[in-house]
This record gives sequence, structure tokens and C-alpha cells, in this order.
Amino acid sequence: MGGGKLIIFAAPSGSGKTTIVEYLLKQEELNLAFSVSATSRPRRGKEKHGENYYFMTTNEFKKHIKNDDFLEWEEVYRDNFYGTLKSEVERLWAEGKNVIFDIDVAGGLRIKRKYPKKTLAVFVKPPSVDELKIRLKKRSTESDDKINMRIAKASVELATAPQFDIVIKNYDLDSALNEAHDLVANFIGVQRK
Ligand code: 5GP
Repeated sequence: MGGGKLIIFAAPSGSGKTTIVEYLLKQEELNLAFSVSATSRPRRGKEKHGENYYFMTTNEFKKHIKNDDFLEWEEVYRDNFYGTLKSEVERLWAEGKNVIFDIDVAGGLRIKRKYPKKTLAVFVKPPSVDELKIRLKKRSTESDDKINMRIAKASVELATAPQFDIVIKNYDLDSALNEAHDLVANFIGVQRK
């Protein structure tokens, strides 16, 4: 049955990691399940509670911090908290799944440090910071202020790439998807379909 592995895709916002994670989740032989994070940021567009995130107030989030309920958490942007609940990972492991995360760089490295052998930590690199800006503007789900905040953070995050097990360049989406699929299949020890 396998399962019990942790797969982290971390990258600056707009690098395409969410697309990669969604693609991998569709590959049945990888036996992956998505770790739904908790967040205090407002819901965007068609996002659903319990599917994209567990949405909660900042107070609720802080209560979970106090109770030591998180495997890791970060104030990713000012007043926007994000975290992985221990109960979420335990639930998916109990189902015999490998768990895949779409989290920020600091959170990803923290999980890698907690479970060095069980974790594959992948950094997704965008072509350039300028290209990131274009992608975030195209997505147009946020104000210019928020976009600029994400860009500023991206430059800091790019410097952490060498701390990951491997870096994937997302210059061409199909190649990035293919590379990600190979990497995860290898790590988990299954044949690609
Ligand atoms: P967004 O607001 O675009 O959904 O996410 C913003 C950033 O927070 C992204 O880089 C995303 O990967 C990260 N993030 C989402 N969930 C978590 C989490 O549980 N922990 C940490 N540390 N970062 C997260």
C-alpha cells in the first residue's frame, strides 16, 4: 500500500507550483492526498472551506497556535497566518496516503527538518521576478499592493532554493510537470503510468 511520505512543493507565489501540485494529485499511482492548510486570510474567488483551506479568524488561528496544534505555521504576509494542522497530516497518513503540500518556503523547510527521510522538498523556480509580476497581474485576484507584497517576498524566497532537495525550473509548464512527476514517482518508489 505504501503511503506515509511527505512531498513539499514550495515556491514564490505565481511560480506555478499550484498547477504542478494539482497535476500530481491526478496521477493515481502516486497515491497522493492534499494537505489542506489553515489560514486567516480571506477567501478568494471559488475557494471552498475544507478543500482549498480551512478558513478561520485570526483569533481562532492563534488558539490553535496556543494549543500546539500545528506541525508548522507562518505569518506569511502581515496578519495573514497559514499553517499545517497536525491532525490533517495524521488523518491522511491513517488513510495510507502520501501527503502533498502547497506551502511557503519557510514552512516547507521546517517540515523537511522535522521529517528529513520521509520528505521530498522541491523548490519551483520561476523564469524571473519580472515574469512573476506578469503572472500575478494576469491572475488579477489581488490588488497592486498585495501583488507588490508577494513580489518583495519572492526575491527573499528565491535565495533559499539551495536548501531544498531539488530545484525545478518552471520555464515551460509541460517540462516542469513531467519532471515533477518523475521526481515524485522515484521518491515514492512506484512506476510512472
Ligand atoms: P495564497 O494566499 O496564495 O493561497 O498562499 C500564500 C502563500 O502561503 C503561498 O506561498 C502558500 O503556499 C503559502 N501557504 C499555504 N498554506 C501554508 C501552510 O500551511 N504553511 C505555510 N507555511 N505556508 C502556507
